[in-house]
Amino acid sequence: MLQQILEDLRPNAVKLVAVSKMKPNSAILELYGQGQRIFGENYVQELKEKYEELPKDIEWHMIGHLQSNKVKYIAPFVHTIHSVDSPRLLKEINKRAKQHDRTINCLLQFHIAEESSKTGFSLEKVEELLEQGLEDFQNVHIRGVMGMATFTSDKVKVKKEFQRLKAIFDQVKSKYFTDNEDFNDISMGMSGDYKLAIQEGSTMVRIGSLLFGARK
Ligand SMILES: *Cc1c(COP(=O)(O)O)cnc(C)c1O
Repeated sequence: MLQQILEDLRPNAVKLVAVSKMKPNSAILELYGQGQRIFGENYVQELKEKYEELPKDIEWHMIGHLQSNKVKYIAPFVHTIHSVDSPRLLKEINKRAKQHDRTINCLLQFHIAEESSKTGFSLEKVEELLEQGLEDFQNVHIRGVMGMATFTSDKVKVKKEFQRLKAIFDQVKSKYFTDNEDFNDISMGMSGDYKLAIQEGSTMVRIGSLLFGARK
């Protein structure tokens, strides 16, 4: 399955985050053995344990909702946080990254789905943050945006939501990151909708069940 997915991603140079939440180390090592190095997790405790137990050249991505008071547990090693959804969280990430003398890549998570349960920034809040400038955030690199579409088989709806995230990315990029080569990522697309996400401009897909089998 990994090779098949990689073939789908190759024409657009889309990156694969293998979502290993609730899967054992053995399953991760199997993909690692096939060359996969980017893994994504949703829960802080689980992420920390896996980091400690698994090879150190794995690039760990935090993709699940993150509470400010838990940033300290992953700050020493996390490569990218996809789920930055408030100025307060970004500030905390910056503070903890600085304590460890490192930089953490961040994606701004936007609310694009209809369901109210999915968290995220509004465009208004992000603009408020970026208008102030990023001088106080020397230890984070804002790399782009992330979003989750509604969980539905309605492809038209999902497509519209992906288009919305792409439009938000373009707008934020042109307004605040024109001369910044680092603001380039659109993290969208999961097992059920990644091909559609790529058509709509995704640069990074987060795939779990298709790689590892269904979660319990
Ligand atoms: C679990 C999860 C995924 C992967 O979902 P699959 O449908 O198993 O591919 C992707 N993104 C986020 C934010 C998730 O929580």
